[in-house]
Amino acid sequence: MDYSQFIAELGQIETITNPSQVAKLSEDYFKFSPVLTQQLTGKVGDLVVRPNNEAEVLQIARACVKHRIPITVRGSGTGNYGQAVPLQGGVILDTSKMQKIHWLKPGLAFVEPGLKLGNLDKQARQIGWESRMVPSTVRTATVGGFIAGGSGGIGSILYGQLRDRGNLKAVRVVTLEDEPRVIELRGDRVQKVNHAYGVNGIITALEIPLAPAYAWAECIVAFTDFMAAAHFGQALATSDGMIKKLVSVHADPIPTFFIPLREYIPPQAHIALVLVAESDLESFKVLVAEHGGDLCYEKDAQAASKGTSLVEFSWNHTTLHARSVDPALTYLQSGFPADPDLKLVQHMHEHFGDEVIMHLEFVRSAGEVVPGAIQIVRFTDCDRLDQIIKYHEENGVFIANPHTYILEDGGMKQVNREQLEFKQMVDPYGLMNPGKMRAWFEQSGK
Ligand code: FAD
Repeated sequence: MDYSQFIAELGQIETITNPSQVAKLSEDYFKFSPVLTQQLTGKVGDLVVRPNNEAEVLQIARACVKHRIPITVRGSGTGNYGQAVPLQGGVILDTSKMQKIHWLKPGLAFVEPGLKLGNLDKQARQIGWESRMVPSTVRTATVGGFIAGGSGGIGSILYGQLRDRGNLKAVRVVTLEDEPRVIELRGDRVQKVNHAYGVNGIITALEIPLAPAYAWAECIVAFTDFMAAAHFGQALATSDGMIKKLVSVHADPIPTFFIPLREYIPPQAHIALVLVAESDLESFKVLVAEHGGDLCYEKDAQAASKGTSLVEFSWNHTTLHARSVDPALTYLQSGFPADPDLKLVQHMHEHFGDEVIMHLEFVRSAGEVVPGAIQIVRFTDCDRLDQIIKYHEENGVFIANPHTYILEDGGMKQVNREQLEFKQMVDPYGLMNPGKMRAWFEQSGK
């Protein structure tokens, strides 16, 4: 397709047509999955546009509708499931120039979508607040990308997941109707676009709740037995008197993948990575001793803010480090049922051994502490991966499959009618991130 007329209609808005730059901005981190690598490698957009503000987003939307050009929004491209990969070419709308904080007050921030989560935290901390939860990609990921493509992370042990009522207050979205407009969604209506991969609106502003900022100490506790580490994680996660932001438990040999941390961790150790309020360190150490742990790494908040944070070894950064040692490794995302005895965790750990290496992330869900897991998998072939998933599901473990780019086939498992109906209204031509929403493409063929 000849884009010259389209580009002319965008006026001063930055466009990128250089094929290698466009190809780079068409990728995300889907290569963590051998399945997605096969399906998505080589899928590229035709050009990239970089609006400065909502008015320019409206202008781009208008031109896309007029020329019926597909449009895929991109924050920082750190998503893991090819969410930001354009399956049918077209325009990539890169939000990196939309980084404004409109306002910030105790408990709330109103920001543009391209703001980096780390920058939001830096500013919020100046008034004693911080994000309730961030992904381990906090330094690079955007607020809009986290809402549209993420699920939770560091902080989820206190505040639950992004989908929980209250964790997103309001959004403004630009539509792809014949005459594009801005719609503001507040309260429960935000769920129409929350974790929808940008298939039903371009988010141009978000009202995000904040949490009181603590001085977070960073610690590693080593154990000689995996279940001892897991029980320690469970005990810390359920200790209501101790404020913590991260309880991340790793079976041996995962710690050996953490090259920058190797000097601190004893050989063959199973470890817990912890962010705990500095003011709770004394009681934390009592819990460590009670569970026979070895506190092999401890940094106060000031020291921790200088080097690489333990955050960047947790959540899906664990997979990043594992793959940098052995690129054949991949991962699973699971939710285990709440169980003080962690029986199912123990069963899976023993059943799969070194093939599915246990990595737990404790989170709060519906008022309970549950062990989420992002296990490291030694990949052999797709059939075996399916068998592993099936075995977990048959035994009561929820799998949010990270080896699919289809919205419903990941964690959702069913058609989200509310999101589908909103798409029918705001994207009648099916231009937004086509191919990602099963309910839409099965009904419309696009
Ligand atoms: P992108 O990848 O650019 O986009 C994600 C999705 O959002 C895409 O579908 C895109 O089209 C859509 N989108 C982006 N901006 C908009 C907008 N303005 N309007 C509409 N749609 C939009 N995720 C977690 O939840 N928790 C983790 O702890 C975590 N850890 C990770 C660790 C590693 C090493 C990696 C590679 C990924 C991890 N992720 C995690 C996934 C990802 O980093 C996060 O979800 C991140 O917040 C995505 O932000 P982004 O700006 O990179 O979004």
